[in-house]
Amino acid sequence: MSEPRTVLVTGGNRGIGRTIAEEFLAQGDKVAVTSRNGQAPEGALAVAADVTDSESIDRAFTEIEEKLGPVEVVVANAGITADNLLMRMNDDEFESVIKTNLTGAFRTVKRGITGMIRAKKGRIVLISSVSGLYGVPGQANYSASKAGLVGFARSITREIGSRGITANVVAPGFIRTDMTDELSEKQQKEYLATIPAKRFAEPAEVAKVVRWMASDEAAYISGAVIPVDGGLGMGH
Ligand code: NDP
Repeated sequence: MSEPRTVLVTGGNRGIGRTIAEEFLAQGDKVAVTSRNGQAPEGALAVAADVTDSESIDRAFTEIEEKLGPVEVVVANAGITADNLLMRMNDDEFESVIKTNLTGAFRTVKRGITGMIRAKKGRIVLISSVSGLYGVPGQANYSASKAGLVGFARSITREIGSRGITANVVAPGFIRTDMTDELSEKQQKEYLATIPAKRFAEPAEVAKVVRWMASDEAAYISGAVIPVDGGLGMGH
């Protein structure tokens, strides 16, 4: 097992983020979890922070650095949906989703790379979605935010890829969490019909891929998009 590292998972109080945090904890890393309500799984450092607020992110990093040491792995996972058909989507529905999912990742990663550049090592994993690559009706805002993460990871790779830092995107399909529980039974049935694996995934199936993307074994992978979607997006 490698040396314990300090890992930050945004939006790690529930759902996929929580399972990612638990996965890193299980391999002996020091894990900090941020969310607006400041809860975290047992064993993780819980820090309240809002990804739409740069000052709040800066405060969170400072606290984590003081308590756990420099952050070597950033998992930008915090995300929201505000689905609506484009014809009906208002500015706030569009902008709030971009602000959390895309600008939130920018704010978090920007603060995170200062320590990584100093340390000449780091792992950035951005949680996107099959929706960002494949497109989903009613999710123009969400899809745009998640596609934006791909360009973001690739630009980071070109900017600081020579510093021992990788930036990759993990694009989950349908994972059983609060976010997908909100879908109606009819929607769930329709989605299921399109997934070659014919099932939704458990959060751990995403978390294990994220853990590996952040490992030494993945040192030569950067700017990549790794789908965890049961074959739904193939080639997108
Ligand atoms: P959940 O709704 O279960 O969790 C979302 C997390 O994001 C919570 O921890 C929430 O914490 C946090 N969050 C939301 N807004 C903010 C904010 N402004 N500042 C800080 N934290 C925030 O979602 P999932 O676990 O399902 O999704 C996790 C990620 O995976 C998201 O980026 C989502 O888009 C992506 N994804 C999910 C899929 C799925 O099928 N579930 C499929 C593809 C991608 P709090 O509200 O307490 O602040």
